[in-house]
Order: sequence, then C-alpha cells, then structure tokens
Amino acid sequence: TISIIGGLDYDLIMIANRIPAGGESLLANEYLEALGGKGANSAIATYRTCHKQPKDTHEAAETDMLEGTGKEETAAEHLEGAAGASTQTHTLTSSDEFRINVKMVGAVGDDKYGERFYAELNKNGVDSSGIITVPNTQSSICFVMVENYTRENRCLFTLGATATWKREHFLKVEDLGHGVRPDLCIAQMEIHKEVVEQMLETAGRAGIDFVLNAAPANPITKRTYQWITHLLVNESEAAIMSGRDLDEVNPDSWPVICQEFLNRGVKNVVITLGAKGAYYATAEERGHCPAYKVKVVDTTGAGDTFTGAYSSDYLRQKEAGQWDIKQAVVRANKAAAITITKLGAQLGIPWSDEIDRFHAP
Ligand code: ADP
Repeated sequence: TISIIGGLDYDLIMIANRIPAGGESLLANEYLEALGGKGANSAIATYRTCHKQPKDTHEAAETDMLEGTGKEETAAEHLEGAAGASTQTHTLTSSDEFRINVKMVGAVGDDKYGERFYAELNKNGVDSSGIITVPNTQSSICFVMVENYTRENRCLFTLGATATWKREHFLKVEDLGHGVRPDLCIAQMEIHKEVVEQMLETAGRAGIDFVLNAAPANPITKRTYQWITHLLVNESEAAIMSGRDLDEVNPDSWPVICQEFLNRGVKNVVITLGAKGAYYATAEERGHCPAYKVKVVDTTGAGDTFTGAYSSDYLRQKEAGQWDIKQAVVRANKAAAITITKLGAQLGIPWSDEIDRFHAP
C-alpha cells in the first residue's frame, strides 16, 4: 500500500475573459466543479503511473486527442473534459489485479462535497477507505478564477476538515495507512506543519519510506529532515525550505541546496525546475535531467504528476531490489510532460503504458 496523506479539496472554477478588479462584479463565461487538491491529484497520479490504462478508457482518450488536433477548444471545454473524465475512468473492483494499492488518507466535511470525494477517487482507482468525514465541518474548498485568454489562475482555498488534524492523530504507524502499515507514505504541506512533522517521525521511527512534496512550502524543524526519504521541491519551495530568496536558486546553487538537505539527513533530494527539468542528489550521485519539449497547454498538476510518477517508480524499483534515482526522475519528467499537454490538473495524468510509449518529439 502507498498511502497519500493530505489535502482533498473541491475546486469551484469560474472562467471569465479577465479577472475582475477590486470592487468590480464581472459576468463569468462558465462555472465548473472538479475534484482537486495536491493530495487527490498526487493519489491519482501515483495510481495511474503504476498501472496500465484500462481498456475501457482507451477509446475516450483517443477521441479526446483527435478533438484536440482538429478544432480549437476553449478553456471551459477543456476543463469540462477534465471534470467529466472521472466518470469515464476505471472503477476499483476486487477482481482487478492491482500491483499496488494506492490509498488516500484524508478528511472531508459532512457537507454536499464530502460524499463526492469518495466516489470520484474510487472511479479513479484510488482506495478511498482512508478518508474520514468529520461531523460539523466543511470540506476544503478552492475558488479558482481562470482568465480565459492568458489561462492564468488565481486561487483561494480553505483547509476545511483537514484543519482538524492534530499531531495526536498520527502517533501510530497504522494511523499513516488508516488501519494498515503502509509501504510508502506521500504527503504535501496543505496540512498543518506540526502534523506533517509528526507523520514524518512516526514513519521514520518505524522504518517506513516517506516522500515529502513540500508544497506549499513551510519550513519544518531541522531535526525532522532526518525522517525524509525523498524531498521533492520546486524552485520556490527549495528557496523557502532552505531560507533563500528565489533569485538565489540557480544552476550554481542547486547542488549546494541539495547538499544542505542531505546534511540534515534527507536521503534523496529532487528540485523540479519547470521547463528546465529536474536536479537530483543523493550522497552518492547528483545530476540534472532536462525536461521534455512538449506543447504546453496547462502546467497545473505538473508537480503532483511528477510526485506520483517518481514515487510509484521508487516503490517498483524497491520491490525489484534496486534504486536508481535518475531513472525515477527521467520517468517523472516524462509523466509531467504528458500532463501539461492537456488543460485541467487530472485529465492529462498518464498511465504507465503511456509513459512507456512516450518519446520526446
Ligand atoms: P510545480 O508544478 O510544482 O511548480 P515545476 O514547475 O517544477 O513544479 O514542474 C514539475 C515538473 O513538470 C518539472 O520537473 C518538469 O518535469 C515538468 N514541467 C513543468 N513545466 C514544464 C515545461 N514547460 N516543459 C516540460 N516539462 C515541464
């Protein structure tokens, strides 16, 4: 079991020709609702990147690709596709042969959104039995304003039920997998920092590998770094987590920053660099893997896809008794490159066979 512990939110998306100014009311072109949150996106990415695309979704995906080349779609049409995609995808059944169980551990409110998280994650193959409904709370909501032409997003979100999590909820190994001991934990930082620190310590003391995608960045206490098996950060997160200004993160400082994290006890560090790819470092090796050149449509979810693909490849390699970090970074770069050729955080997340087939244009 891979356990993804973190934020689930519902995206309430308004698409307009431009973002309203202060004090202005503006008519939007479209309104959509979609499952989101770094936790949910990473869970779906982890599941897909280690499983082949089920046959029943091939056709839908191919039709979608053809449409993309034939006519120009609006942002709204694309996002609608993203939201609708979940209804076409795979339902988790006991007869399926899964190589890895991907379990979402999260908290939702007892409101109208709460129920949808279970159903939508199940439809995407993710085990939702680790999600609890907290009475008298709201689910985490994200208001997204999309400017149609620039495709720029502005977001405001609440932590919702996840804010009720305290350190005490993660004192035992079984808490990390909601009743089972996970083989690997993945977390982001859309939850209180003290809770992340406790999860790290509980996992670390039990010898469970932990992938921390420190997004949004929030510096953790120095002693908790020793429990991180894999630290994944983008450039701005690398700056914040290492106490630098963003302009101090450059090719000269990548190895220095990585070394600082390694010195604190992290085993593997990856800095994702957007269109520049990713830089990785362990005590033994370090290097840069360039990004794949693709036609960029929407980079939302690139980091979450990277996290999912990297993590599933780590576990796959570990089960085969090996660990080659470069191989995992290359695969994650490929997966993220495929994702950004489509609009919507989840629509473009590739299955394992799509990554295998991917050749840079
Ligand atoms: P985040 O989405 O968390 O800000 P990055 O922007 O660093 O993270 O992107 C994560 C990964 O997505 C990169 O390491 C790279 O593999 C891929 N990626 C992002 N932007 C591009 C791009 N323009 N072209 C190709 N790959 C990209």
